[in-house]
Amino acid sequence: MQSKNLYIATFGCQMNVNDSERIVTMLQELGYRTTEHLREGDLVLFNTCTVRGGAEDKVHQHLANLKSLKKKRPGTLIGIAGCVAQQEGDRLLADYPWLDLVVGTHNLHLLPEMVREAEAGRRRSETDFLENDTRLDLFPAIAGYRKVSAFVTVMQGCDNFCSYCIVPYVRGREISRRFDEILREVRELASQGVREVVLLGQNVNSYGMKGEGEPPFSELVREVARVPEVARIRFVTSHPKDMSPELIACFGDIPKLCGALHLPAQSGNNRILAAMNRGYSRERYLETVRALRAVRPDIKFTGDMIVGFPAETEAEFEETLSLMEEVRYFDLFSFVYSPRPGTKAAELADDLSKEVKLERLDRLQKLQSIHSRVHNESYTGTIQQVLVEGPAKREGQVMGRCDSGRIVNLAGSPELIGCLVNVRIVEGYANSLLGELL
Ligand code: SF4
Repeated sequence: MQSKNLYIATFGCQMNVNDSERIVTMLQELGYRTTEHLREGDLVLFNTCTVRGGAEDKVHQHLANLKSLKKKRPGTLIGIAGCVAQQEGDRLLADYPWLDLVVGTHNLHLLPEMVREAEAGRRRSETDFLENDTRLDLFPAIAGYRKVSAFVTVMQGCDNFCSYCIVPYVRGREISRRFDEILREVRELASQGVREVVLLGQNVNSYGMKGEGEPPFSELVREVARVPEVARIRFVTSHPKDMSPELIACFGDIPKLCGALHLPAQSGNNRILAAMNRGYSRERYLETVRALRAVRPDIKFTGDMIVGFPAETEAEFEETLSLMEEVRYFDLFSFVYSPRPGTKAAELADDLSKEVKLERLDRLQKLQSIHSRVHNESYTGTIQQVLVEGPAKREGQVMGRCDSGRIVNLAGSPELIGCLVNVRIVEGYANSLLGELL
């Protein structure tokens, strides 16, 4: 089979990163090998995100720019996948005549067939949502995996309808994957050398809650922990309202479950949380944090915060800062509120000036950088278990992660890749740690 080049650019969340890995695997069977250079691509694919307006605008810019590439190399195929594809569908084919295919979030399994059609000159768009009984089609397994850490998708979609969020409209209703199918994939990955499994879903801890007959998420975590070759388990993204007592207990009695949790609060103020339709209060969020710390005292929290939600007052914003002081996040992803057309919040009067929003974001990020620095410095002199994932950027070093997920670089040879090793941390930097093998 003639080898062809696939250039794939991924925007957005880890669900998209995982989808791109599956796209690469599926297209290998058609003879496509990845290239890092857009101009070398026989097939150029953008796997897109629509969570913030900026990300969506970038996709449109890229699409406009590709007109000249198509003119110079008419044989190049151009495709759009992911959330912008889902949202805009056929309209993209009409607006960009040089675009060959549009594939939505529930239709990735159709991609090989669509690429073959595009090669034969037929343009196509597929954006229908699948019904529950076809849910296996949503989760084609990854074959031939060669990494130490692997994502395993366990559910997709979201039923929460947070007032600012477009995800339920572009990823569809929550669908949990079959329990035994997930375990089969985990065992398969483990047999290929994967040591860390990251269970993935838009709202991962509501796995099994939608009456599909699957056991709860805490049971899934326990079952994955029973696979002997799996040394570490993580999961992302959790909704604070779905942190059940059973799942919290897992952090206390499953050593393989890493002591790190992404638990997005979005705001520290109850009026804003209600306006966001988040389904928990500040007090309930902090209770969950305390319960997790009671069973795993060294657990590290990361989170997301939105600054400048419509009509957010200074006092309400300060409650977000005080929540940060209480939780002391390890890392925080923070954003200025960006209205997404079609969501409830987009109908609210947005009376805050851009200057006020940016000033609040700046204050929040300065506070977080102090907290992150304190966390990093506290590692110096400690001994950490590190799962070595691959070569580091610096020659003679390898990189891995400690339990919290922080990157650790250390002098060592490639034979360490895939091993859990004890490392003394000699220095903490802003985003990584330097260690020495014990
Ligand atoms: S939980 Fe809320 S923020 Fe997260 S994907 Fe669902 S609607 Fe969006």
